[in-house]
Amino acid sequence: MAPELIGRLIDQASAVIEANAELLTALDSAIGDGDHGHNMRRGFQEIAAQRAQLVELPLGPALHKAGMALVMKVGGASGPLYGSLLMSMGKAAAEPPASAQDLALIWAEGIEAIKRRGKSDVGAKTMLDVLVPALDALRAAAGDGRAPGEIIASVRAAADHGLAATKDMQATKGRASYLGERSIGHLDPGAQSSALLIGVVCDVLESEG
Ligand code: ADP
Ligand code: MG
Repeated sequence: MAPELIGRLIDQASAVIEANAELLTALDSAIGDGDHGHNMRRGFQEIAAQRAQLVELPLGPALHKAGMALVMKVGGASGPLYGSLLMSMGKAAAEPPASAQDLALIWAEGIEAIKRRGKSDVGAKTMLDVLVPALDALRAAAGDGRAPGEIIASVRAAADHGLAATKDMQATKGRASYLGERSIGHLDPGAQSSALLIGVVCDVLESEG
């Protein structure tokens, strides 16, 4: 794994969150309290502020430290949830991933942490409705021994499909659940931010070859 990987992930994730903050806020205004763009921007600004320290760390400790930054700096549900994801992935990445299967194991630990912290699972119209199908696609494609480009394409497609599927779901977790049936017909903001971040990881891994 190239040493500049962490720096590229930080730069591209911060840029994508900045560019889409208004979209995330608009989605959250429809079914929540309209702060998801602000929360994500604040979190990724903090991670970007710690860039110099983060790039000096191995992947596991860097993920853990970035997760701590999200937990400490971001109000709202998404900070602790994304923070738990990164902290647990960081713990699981004591050894840097050497294969797509390794990456799937690390990612799975992060998703379990979100499920525990959010007392949530797929089907509740949350970020998990993107993160879980994308992980399943990674596992399936890696298990079939497919080429890296095909694995990445399959993860992207699953994330996009998972995001689109949140539109017709009724939220049963988070603020959107207060709306009951009125939450149907809108994309979930956290699912949108997850799809954006998965896109960043795919872009960075793809450009790494
Ligand atoms: P808040 O809901 O506190 O205002 P944000 O607006 O930043 O926080 O984030 C909202 C997103 O967090 C939702 O769109 C959803 O994807 C995710 N979310 C909320 N509650 C949960 C939960 N219990 N489990 C998983 N994800 C959740
Ligand atoms: Mg909100």
